[in-house]
Amino acid sequence: MSITSVTFEPIGIIHSCFRQKFGIPRQPGLVRAARGQLELLPPYNRREALTGLEGFSHLWIHFIFHQTMDEGWRPTIRPPRLGGKKRIGVFATRSTHRPNPLGMSVVRLENILEQDGRLLLEISGIDLLDQTPVVDIKPYLPYADIISDASGGFAPEPGAQTAVTFTEEALAICQQYEQQQGRQLQLLIQQILSQDPRPAYLNKNNERSFGMSLWDLNIRWRIETGGFVVYEVQQQEPCISP
Ligand code: SAH
Repeated sequence: MSITSVTFEPIGIIHSCFRQKFGIPRQPGLVRAARGQLELLPPYNRREALTGLEGFSHLWIHFIFHQTMDEGWRPTIRPPRLGGKKRIGVFATRSTHRPNPLGMSVVRLENILEQDGRLLLEISGIDLLDQTPVVDIKPYLPYADIISDASGGFAPEPGAQTAVTFTEEALAICQQYEQQQGRQLQLLIQQILSQDPRPAYLNKNNERSFGMSLWDLNIRWRIETGGFVVYEVQQQEPCISP
């Protein structure tokens, strides 16, 4: 029998602090403070399907790059790690634009909970957009998945870290938000920006300030000698229906 096509159905959906692509780390684990939830969808939201999972610290999540899948794929990519200049084969990259738009991420399993009839896996270190459809979950097996003598091709290391500071005003709003929401905001912003999320193709001399959204917040930072300064943390206007 030859298989020419397979149809997958999402088993879950991601709830993430990342509501847009800009700012999402390039791989999982780089921003440990990035937390989210994987909600299992019917008919897969059965507690027994997760029996034994709590013994694992990390999971593989297989998901669909749903936001970029309509843009198709290209045989070569200019990875940000090479300054957006050199072309690499798509199968030698973790690009989102692939023949089959499948992503895979190792994330930390923080907790499994049932809330208002919903079955949720709390996860951290994520590089996943809000509403990402999940097609599979597998336990991370250290004895098989850690390969200590593996070589990392054109991306051997995560890259240099940028220094991040906050203005007093921005810091005060972060602290207020943390108290109200019980979410780690300052650490999250700091870890995201230290990865320098600016696109590789950008002429870095032109723009002096940038913005991204996290949950319902708009964050702005500017470039100063020696690093980034976060100067604005603002709640987005609620949508008012007409
Ligand atoms: N760890 C995964 C993803 C690597 S690419 C893998 O190796 O397969 C990481 C980028 O995927 C992030 O910077 C983010 O911009 C993008 N991304 C995350 N979720 C996405 C989604 N649902 N649709 C499209 N792009 C997504």
